[in-house]
Amino acid sequence: MKKKEVNSARMPIYRDAGFELFDAETTANAFKQETENEREPDNYIYSRYRNPNVVSAEEEIMKLEGCNWTLLTQSGMSAIDTALSIFQHGAQTRPWLFFTEIYGGTISFIESVLRNRRGIDIQYFTPENGTYNLADFEKVISKLKPEIVYIESVSNPMVIVSDVTEIAAIAKKYGAKTMLDNTFATPWLLKPLNEGVDIVIHSATKYFSGHGNLTAGVICGNDADIMKQAIEYRKFVGHMLSPDDAYRLQTQIQTFELRFSKQCINASQLAVYLNSNPLIKKVWFPGLKSHPTHLIAKKLFRGKGYGAMITFDFDGKDSNEKRSRRDKFIKLVSDKIKLIPTLGDPHTILMPVEAVWGAKYPEPGMIRLSVGFEDYGELEKIFRKALDNI
Ligand code: PLP
Repeated sequence: MKKKEVNSARMPIYRDAGFELFDAETTANAFKQETENEREPDNYIYSRYRNPNVVSAEEEIMKLEGCNWTLLTQSGMSAIDTALSIFQHGAQTRPWLFFTEIYGGTISFIESVLRNRRGIDIQYFTPENGTYNLADFEKVISKLKPEIVYIESVSNPMVIVSDVTEIAAIAKKYGAKTMLDNTFATPWLLKPLNEGVDIVIHSATKYFSGHGNLTAGVICGNDADIMKQAIEYRKFVGHMLSPDDAYRLQTQIQTFELRFSKQCINASQLAVYLNSNPLIKKVWFPGLKSHPTHLIAKKLFRGKGYGAMITFDFDGKDSNEKRSRRDKFIKLVSDKIKLIPTLGDPHTILMPVEAVWGAKYPEPGMIRLSVGFEDYGELEKIFRKALDNI
C-alpha cells in the first residue's frame, strides 16, 4: 500500500510495541532520559514505558486537575498499587493509615496483598456517626507516625465526604503523605492537590471515561520525585494503559465536565424527590442537610454540586417487607435502570447494597444509585411510576 499523509485532526493510535531508535547514541540517551521526562520523552522506546496516546490523554487530565504531572494506568486498582507501592521501603516502612470508608476492592487489596503478602503494618481510622472525628484522628496519627494517610473524598455507599483540607494539614504536621482517591468527587468538585494532598488517584473507568466501556486508572501529583518513582514502578510491573484505551479515554474525557455537571444536577433533584417519598425511610446524599457531612461538602465543593451518587433505604414493617419492596422496585425499573456493578455511566444504574456490602451495611431495603445524565423529567417519571406501583 502506498504511504500517504492523512489529514486527521486527532492523534492516530500508535499500537507499536517498540519504536525505531535508529542508532546506538539515540538509544542510550532515550533509556537514560526515560524517567526524567515529566511528560513527552524525546524518543519513545517501548509502549510499556510510554506511548504517545497515553501521554496525550495524560495531558488532557493535567488540564482538569491543574497539576504538574499525571500518569495513566490500566485500572484504578493499578493506580492505587503504584501510588502506594512507591512508599514501601522493606523493613524501614512505617505504618500506613487507611480511613475505613474506602472502596471494598481497595480494602481487599490492602488486606490480601499489602498486609498478608507484603507484611505492611496496616492501620485503620473509623468514622463515628457518619463522619470522621478529626480530633481523634490527630490523636491516632500523633502516636502512630504513619508514612501514608489514605482517604477517599466521597465514600461508597454512604457518600461520607472527608474534610480533605483538614486531614491533609494534620497528616503533614506529623510527617505523613496524604493520598486521596477522588473518583466520586472528580476535579469538577474538588482539586485535592490545592488542598494540600500529595497524590490524587482516580478510577478513570468511572466519570473520566463516562461510558462504561473501558477500565483505566490515574495518578496525579506535583512532586517530581514521586513522579519519577511512579513512572519507574508503572514500567517495571507493567501497569501501563493500552494505546486503544488511552485514545478512547482522551476522546471521552473531552465531555467530562458537561456530563458530570449534569449528573450532579440530576442527582440533587432526584435526592430531594426520593426524600419526599413516603415509601423511603432515608436518603444519603451530601447535598441534603440531613447528611452528616453536608457542611463539609458545602465548604469543599463550593456550590458546584454534591456528586452523583445517592443511597436510599426502603421503609417497611420488617426486613422481609423492606427486601421485597427493594426487589419489586428493581424489577419495575429494570427496562430503563439497570443493575450494573459500576458507576459513572451515561444512564442511571443501581446496586442493591445488602448484596454487595452486606457485612458492613446489612439493611435489606437499601439501594445505591449512580445517577446518569439523561433528561431529568424522564428520570423522575421512571422513579415515580415504579414507586407508585409498589
Ligand atoms: N476507587 C474507587 C472509589 C472505585 O469505586 C473503584 C472501582 O469501583 C476503584 C477505585 C477501582 O477502579 P478500577 O475498577 O478501575 O480498577
